[in-house]
Amino acid sequence: MGLESLLKEDGFFTTKVDALAAWARKSSVWPMPMGISCCAIEMMASGDPKYDIARFGSEVMRFTPRQCDLMIVAGTVTYKMAPVVKKIYDQMPDPKWVFAMGACTATGGIYRTYSVVQGIDQFLPVDLYIAGCPPRPDNLLNALIQIQDKIGRTKVAQFKNSKLPDLNVIQNN
Ligand code: SF4
Repeated sequence: MGLESLLKEDGFFTTKVDALAAWARKSSVWPMPMGISCCAIEMMASGDPKYDIARFGSEVMRFTPRQCDLMIVAGTVTYKMAPVVKKIYDQMPDPKWVFAMGACTATGGIYRTYSVVQGIDQFLPVDLYIAGCPPRPDNLLNALIQIQDKIGRTKVAQFKNSKLPDLNVIQNN
């Protein structure tokens, strides 16, 4: 399994830098767990022995943005909280990706109120929406597999000198 099976005969193999970088990135997606309310419990459950997110190389949740490349926003984001979420996203190094986990994060959910942001895509570039109230842990794992597939198709030059999105929270109530 792994590189040993390729190296056992000739001791070398040829590939492209793009393929190698994409393979390394997709195999070590480290989440920034932005657990804000009830959906966060399901996100935590994805790390337990039953769901075992470590099978996908993503069990490293260190609560520090500087080593993360996947922000998982799980919960109800208020206008008071949104600048904090955005600040942590800005502190993550490029390239980086975002999950909107649950109905509240994706649309405001049941909270059609003055205080709740009606979808985090108003201030973050969301890559994947995870349906549910709350979504099951295996739904999160399915999203992880999909983002790995997306990362696996990226090229190194794609992220060179890329401009940061200039997004602000929109007050729409
Ligand atoms: S989507 Fe449901 S479970 Fe998730 S934060 Fe909103 S109310 Fe809670």
